[in-house]
Amino acid sequence: MKEKIASPARTREILRQYDFIFQKKYGQNFLIDLHVLNKIIKAAELSSSDCVIEVGPGIGSLTQALAEKAGQVIAVEIDKQLIPILQETLRGYDNIHIMNQDILKVDMEELLVKRLPSSKVKVVANLPYYITTPIIMGLLEKRLPLEHITVMVQKEVADRMKAVPGTKDYGALSVAVQYYSEPYLVANVPVNCFIPRPKVGSAVIQLRILKEPRIHVKDEVFFFHVVRAAFAQRRKTLVNTLYNYSQQEFVFSKEDIVSCLKEMGLNEKVRGETLSIEKLGQLSDLLYSIK
Ligand code: SAM
Repeated sequence: MKEKIASPARTREILRQYDFIFQKKYGQNFLIDLHVLNKIIKAAELSSSDCVIEVGPGIGSLTQALAEKAGQVIAVEIDKQLIPILQETLRGYDNIHIMNQDILKVDMEELLVKRLPSSKVKVVANLPYYITTPIIMGLLEKRLPLEHITVMVQKEVADRMKAVPGTKDYGALSVAVQYYSEPYLVANVPVNCFIPRPKVGSAVIQLRILKEPRIHVKDEVFFFHVVRAAFAQRRKTLVNTLYNYSQQEFVFSKEDIVSCLKEMGLNEKVRGETLSIEKLGQLSDLLYSIK
C-alpha cells in the first residue's frame, strides 16, 4: 500500500509540487479527510469483482482507495492539467484507467454494456457540484446496469434526494431519484474536509438502484411531466399548479383535474408536495387516460 494521497500533508505537497491552479469552473474541492474517505469506501462494499466508475478523480485521493479494493477503476476527469499529475500519483496501480473527458459526453451505455459486460459496476465519486443533477439523472434515466451510486454532493441536494412527502425538501428531484433508487445517507461532511473549503456543507449519499422502477406507470414521460407540474408552483394547490403548467400535450381543464383527484379520494385543495410517488403515479395514469 502506498502513502495516502488524501492526507492533508500529502495533498498539499502534490499541489505545491505541480504548482496546481484550482479551476473554480470545474468545482474542484479535493477531499483531505481519511475518516470520510474510509466511510465512502466502506459504504461502496467493494470487492475484486467490481468495476468502479469515478467521476472527477482530481489528484487521485479517492481513486487510490478505490483501486486498492476494486478489480478495476475507470476515472473520468475533464481537467487536462490533472492528467499528468494522476499518472504520477497513481503510478504502480495497474487497475486504473484514466479518461480525459467530460463525463456528460461519455457514452455510458457503450462503456457499461459493451466494454464491461461481465462486471458488477458501481459509481463512486466526490462530484463536481455544478453538475450533480445532470450526472445523477443521466445515470438513473438510462437504466444502466449499476448496483449503486455512492457520491459526495451538497448537503442540501442530499436532503432533497431522500426527502419524504409533506416536507420542505420533497420535490421533483426526490421523486425522480426515488423512482429509480433507494437513497441512504452515508455521512454528513463539514467544509474543513476539503481543499479549498466549499461554501456549503456536503454529504455522502448512496442510491441503491432498484431492479424495476418503484412504481409502474402507463407512460413514463407523461409521469415526469405530472411530477414537474405538481411541484412547479409550491404555494398553489395541485389543481392550480397542474392547470397553470399548460404545455404541449399537457392541457387539462380544472374540472378534469378535480375529477381525477376525487377519484383518488383527494380533496381539491390538496398540495403537490403531500403526494407520495404512488399517488403521483395514480394521478398520472388517470390524467393520461383522459388526455
Ligand atoms: N475526487 C477528487 C477528490 O475527492 O479529491 C476531486 C473531487 S472535485 C469535487 C471534482 C472533480 O471533478 C475535479 O477533479 C474536477 O476537475 C472534475 N470535473 C469537473 N467537471 C467534470 C466533468 N464534466 N467531467 C469529468 N470531471 C469533471
